[in-house]
Amino acid sequence: VKSTLATLPVPSSTHSVAYNAPPSGRANATFVFLARNSDIDGVAAAVQSVEDRFNRRHGYPWVFLNDEYFTEQFMFRVRLLTDAPVFFGRIERDAWNQPDWIDEEKARKGRLKLMSQRIIYGGSVPYRNMCRFNSGFFFKQYRYYWRVEPGVKYFCDLSYDPFKMMQEQEKVYGFTISLMEHKATVATLWQAVKEFIEQHPEHIDPNNALDFVSDDAGANYNLCHFWSNFEIADMDFWRAPAYQAFFDFLEAKGGFYYERWGDAPVHSIAAALFARRDQIHFFRDIAYRHDDFEHCPAGEQYAANRCSCNPDTSFDYTDHSCLRRFENLFS
Ligand code: GDP
Ligand code: MN
Repeated sequence: VKSTLATLPVPSSTHSVAYNAPPSGRANATFVFLARNSDIDGVAAAVQSVEDRFNRRHGYPWVFLNDEYFTEQFMFRVRLLTDAPVFFGRIERDAWNQPDWIDEEKARKGRLKLMSQRIIYGGSVPYRNMCRFNSGFFFKQYRYYWRVEPGVKYFCDLSYDPFKMMQEQEKVYGFTISLMEHKATVATLWQAVKEFIEQHPEHIDPNNALDFVSDDAGANYNLCHFWSNFEIADMDFWRAPAYQAFFDFLEAKGGFYYERWGDAPVHSIAAALFARRDQIHFFRDIAYRHDDFEHCPAGEQYAANRCSCNPDTSFDYTDHSCLRRFENLFS
């Protein structure tokens, strides 16, 4: 495992890859929350939402990560909101900063190009650091994780333990919202993916979900991806040889900096190629909002889980959603 998170005070017994649920009845799992100190208001709202709708009854630990040290104020406000263990880690420079071997002149031209096209975060180096970190370095310590971001909201009670569901059903990746990427941010990503597949056909699962990310049997990327601000997934999948080789291959291309490859398309393409399609799970019963898009369940679950979202504005079958493509994998 090459990830180099600095200072997580997690007992060494949880460092290994343990498959059995601890005696508490919990899975070997945690929340992972990357944040800046300035995100604290949105962090507090998100933690409260997760705790109210799920974690108050389960007590899964929280891991907060930052490229700087968290302030006392940040840690104080977070600790007030949960009885579960909370860990604050600072990310090592190598896992965060633009590597020295990246050609800064070429990277700068890439940023200017995306800025001129008014692509969101087009000119931002920190955003690129974040995407590369989330692609290649965040996974450590636990087996399953649930990613949380500032300002996200959960609208329904969750009546079961999704980590245990993942474990029992051998799922590796769970999502709530899927949509299309800005093409200019991943201009050469699919070319790299095709080269990788050619060099490493052994990593491609015969029952893959290629049709989720390509409409022409792999010739082109259709820009579909799972929105990675929510993820419940198996870190063993990221630590396994297929993804490690894939990340190394993409990293060497420099596209995290020369373009603005997001961790969402990177994770999604990997899940679509290296896992069985039935190992990818749509959490229809997890009502979730990030920025302008939300997934809200309709039907019996809505009342049973005391939901507060509006099912009529659910993103699921709108024009830019990729959910139908996902469902077609199984029809
Ligand atoms: P968006 O969801 O793609 O619009 O991007 P966000 O601004 O929400 O960033 C994604 C996640 O990375 C959030 O959890 C942010 O708090 C975190 N993040 C983004 N940039 C930085 C950064 O420079 N430093 C740290 N520590 N976290 C960051
Ligand atoms: Mn966000």
